[in-house]
Amino acid sequence: MNSAKKYEFRNLKNSSDKMLICPKCMELLFKDDIEHYSSCPYCNSKIEVDQELEDFLLKPYVDNWISSQNRANFGMLSPEN
Ligand SMILES: [Zn+2]
Repeated sequence: MNSAKKYEFRNLKNSSDKMLICPKCMELLFKDDIEHYSSCPYCNSKIEVDQELEDFLLKPYVDNWISSQNRANFGMLSPEN
């Protein structure tokens, strides 16, 4: 009944970063593992990048972009001195 959720993620302590839980062996995978190997380094099962996983992989870049946008907006709103 929970076929809708393909991948599970776990939040890292003291970090906004997340790790993917391998659906096969339940090991925690770093983003880098998935990006570089596109398979689980522990059980070698293929990691299929779906929309959810793509969001997960791209999130740090999006977050960076958003915070740099916010900084730019702040700069414009606050007085020069
Ligand atoms: Zn695995």
